[in-house]
Amino acid sequence: MLMNSITILLKLTGEVLLHQNTQKLNDSLVRSIARQIKQLESTHRFGIVIGGGNFFRGSVQGTVLKLTPSIGHQIGMLATMMNGLIIKDLFEQEGLSSTLFCAVPASEIGAPISHQTIENALVHKKLLIFTGGTGNPFFTTDTTAILRGLQINATQVWKGTTVDGIYTADPKKDPCAQRLSTLSYDQALMEKMGIMDATAIALARQHRLPIRVFNIFHDQAIICAAEDQSFGSTMS
Ligand code: UDP
Repeated sequence: MLMNSITILLKLTGEVLLHQNTQKLNDSLVRSIARQIKQLESTHRFGIVIGGGNFFRGSVQGTVLKLTPSIGHQIGMLATMMNGLIIKDLFEQEGLSSTLFCAVPASEIGAPISHQTIENALVHKKLLIFTGGTGNPFFTTDTTAILRGLQINATQVWKGTTVDGIYTADPKKDPCAQRLSTLSYDQALMEKMGIMDATAIALARQHRLPIRVFNIFHDQAIICAAEDQSFGSTMS
């Protein structure tokens, strides 16, 4: 670990690889994320869990194709591995050195996930990119983010998503929806706010790991999250 550095597990939806308006593949946000992480190098160290939603979600495309659910989820996990390769390459082009981990055995693609492999990457000051979700169907990459956050001893999990934080209702449907700057795990679970799945929240609650939710498409979102405690919403 870097002296006095804050360790953050950053969960990125696969949608960071899509242009927000056109929904076409786009590299600019990922390159900007790399530059922001580099800018915070002396104070923050990051592990990243990447989703696969830009390609495939078991519960969406898998359902449309009437796939056996566990097969659909396996394809979703493979989607996160494709994204991992993409973001690793873009990060390296921006001068950020990383280690790619795969929860699904795929030695040509990434390292297996264990205490030793994680420590080794941290000793070599690598950014950690976790792919393959938990390696099991019926989970999401949100739950994976809490799990990996615990494994790297993160201070917080940051969920970079497409909304500005956690709202009292869906802001895209209800104009009266209000953003909450803080809330408890129990509140999020009881009011079924839909920002994260219940498994992820329950695991975070059990280990008292705070979850910060913010809009990753906001200009300089990661710098804002690092500098402004009120940016987004924090569940703790
Ligand atoms: N997935 C899975 N197990 C996991 C994590 C993910 O089966 O531990 C599958 C699941 O089908 C999910 C897909 O991988 O829909 C892509 O992940 P996610 O939907 O979380 O991606 P995001 O919405 O963050 O882009």
